Amino acid sequence: MPATPAWPPRSAPRLFVDQPLAQGADLRIEGGQAHYLINVMRLADGAPVKLFDDRSGEYLARVAARGKRDLVLTVESLLRTREAVPDFWLCAAPIKRARFDFLAEKACELGVARFVPVLTERAVVDKIKDNRLRATMIEAAEQCERTALPEIAPLTRLDVLLRDWPEGRHLLFADERLHESGSGSFRKALREHPGPAAVLIGPEGGFSDAENADIRSHPAAVPVSLGPRILRAETAAIAATALWMAGRGDWDG
Ligand code: SAH
Repeated sequence: MPATPAWPPRSAPRLFVDQPLAQGADLRIEGGQAHYLINVMRLADGAPVKLFDDRSGEYLARVAARGKRDLVLTVESLLRTREAVPDFWLCAAPIKRARFDFLAEKACELGVARFVPVLTERAVVDKIKDNRLRATMIEAAEQCERTALPEIAPLTRLDVLLRDWPEGRHLLFADERLHESGSGSFRKALREHPGPAAVLIGPEGGFSDAENADIRSHPAAVPVSLGPRILRAETAAIAATALWMAGRGDWDG
């Protein structure tokens, strides 16, 4: 199956629906999605829409009936089965709202399997809105043609994250303290540690001394540097995810 089918046209709206899709099914679309299709996209009867359900894959559907506030789509054919998602987690301390939303959007676009917000000592934010993060990631997945949504873990304390860390998953620890040392080559870490991985990114204030020591003493931890400059947390998260995807993920097809 080609990545970009010739039909429907690329401009067909693409939506995530939280119900299993199957050929021949009729779906009633309401609320914000209906408003978008009826009033923003102004879809006529018979117009194509692409749908994905994070379960089976992506389908072509068509507008079967339109009301003022809702519409019915008939699911026609399977375009693609659900993608295989590279086994990579992004664990990141929450930062200010707009920057964390940006980070979540980019994480989805770059292909992470799981996003774990991590509570650390120097957190400026100790609550997050899971619903908002999920909405951001759904929008990103719709736009970037993912057929799978990243899982979003609840906000997890760093000590709990380390305590419950699954065996066999490398924890690539983005350690800002390495920036002047020239050690902690990311490429070397990727070469020497194949298999399931996660990257851990700290908050604006970085990790405390005690946290740094705790992470380093964890058996799964592999300290990595992201170069000689101190990056903002969201830049660090995006850079590390891109490095992993290019080296171990699905960027080479
Ligand atoms: N305020 C801290 C910097 C925090 S940057 C200080 O001045 O030291 C936020 C997070 O991004 C860090 O905790 C780390 O996980 C990551 N990061 C930023 N720059 C990095 C670098 N050059 N190498 C590795 N990680 C980096």
